Amino acid sequence: MMALAVILSLLMAVSCADSPMDRTELVLGTICSVRIVAGGSDAALDAAFARLRQIDRTMSANASGTAISAINDAAGISPVAVPDDARFVIARALDYARASNGAFDPTIGPIVKLWNIGMDGQRVPTPAELEAALSLVRWDAVVVDDEAGTVFLPLPGMRLDLGAIAKGYAADEVGLILAEQGVRAAVLDLGGNVMVIGTKPDGSAWRIGVQNPFDSRGTHLGVATVPGGWTVVTSGVYERFFDADDGKRYHHILSTGTGYPVSNGLVSVTILSDSSIAADGLSTTAFTLGLEAGMALVEATEGVEALFIDEQRRLYASSGAGTLFELRDRSFTQTALR
Ligand code: ADP
Ligand code: MG
Repeated sequence: MMALAVILSLLMAVSCADSPMDRTELVLGTICSVRIVAGGSDAALDAAFARLRQIDRTMSANASGTAISAINDAAGISPVAVPDDARFVIARALDYARASNGAFDPTIGPIVKLWNIGMDGQRVPTPAELEAALSLVRWDAVVVDDEAGTVFLPLPGMRLDLGAIAKGYAADEVGLILAEQGVRAAVLDLGGNVMVIGTKPDGSAWRIGVQNPFDSRGTHLGVATVPGGWTVVTSGVYERFFDADDGKRYHHILSTGTGYPVSNGLVSVTILSDSSIAADGLSTTAFTLGLEAGMALVEATEGVEALFIDEQRRLYASSGAGTLFELRDRSFTQTALR
């Protein structure tokens, strides 16, 4: 009996040393949490959040003093020297702009600013305002000079907005930092961009709930089972929106064709991938492209799978998603594309 008690308390001590550690902070304009399940330390959490704040201070388009706002302030005037990570994320965003023929465009800034969705002063812009701002949405005009380390927006009034991709980059970065810090298992949640790291102590697979776009946050329509290092990111109409005086609801994924919220029958696109920047970039890109073109892009991209959900509660899964995702909510119908 004594021996058993000793063994039990020893076991408790071992598992206490590895008890989960959580930290949550408001950063990157959203709620970011890191939960370390094995190999956690305060130093690891400190390093993770220090990097998140640093990325925020570099990539936010809303705060002053960031590299992105410096580029925006110098639009039409001069190139601006920015850190390598800012240029890296801008270059990746431009890749998605190219791949989508501009449906995804990191120079959407002037349109985002007119709407201000989710912030003070949100309103429906006038058609004339949108038309003027759309002439500044020109990803193909952005000049990234890697040798000089600069970025230049040639037209006065152009504005970069990395809101569709920065959180994905941040998750990749935090994943690397936690591994360096000796973390063996962790879950990141950067405002709904979820990433799992390492191997669960009990050896079981990681499971990530996929948000039901029609229901309150935390209600899942199904579960993704993924290996360590994978990410599940959703772009949806429910993420950020406002109800205007005209009785209509306006969401935050904007059409580079009209300047209004994208309206193509989709309510959400979820991407599963081992790269979080790809998942974040592609979830928004696929949403802006719509079901057919968005699915074609996903199928043509190595290492990513997707779930598209439309207003009729139809779920369309990419060809490799079946082994990773299990639909639980039977009010959705899994549908084949043609
Ligand atoms: P969330 O921020 O909810 O995770 P997304 O990753 O889909 O959602 O990004 C939406 C954000 O991307 C918007 O808030 C805006 O900053 C930016 N954005 C909106 N429309 C576009 C677009 N057509 N191309 C690129 N970025 C966009
Ligand atoms: Mg995105």
